[in-house]
Amino acid sequence: MRKTNLITLSGVAPVGLSIEVNGQRFDLIGHEPYLTKDGATTTLMLWQAECATCGEGFTTTAAPNRWPERRRCDLHTRPGKAVVA
Ligand SMILES: [Zn+2]
Repeated sequence: MRKTNLITLSGVAPVGLSIEVNGQRFDLIGHEPYLTKDGATTTLMLWQAECATCGEGFTTTAAPNRWPERRRCDLHTRPGKAVVA
């Protein structure tokens, strides 16, 4: 069963917020301005977390009302692919 998140994000969350998504911790470390396809400006959340595979820190962006979806560093983003040592 999918675990429900404890809080609901609405709007721009404050920097310093820490959340847990399916057991993985994400820290909000900044906001990033973003230009959408139709020319509107929005703000993306810049999250920092540790790779689910190796524990290396990585950053990922997500829309204000979305949870960060990335769970792994650059090296382990595609678990299906062989990792060259
Ligand atoms: Zn990794």
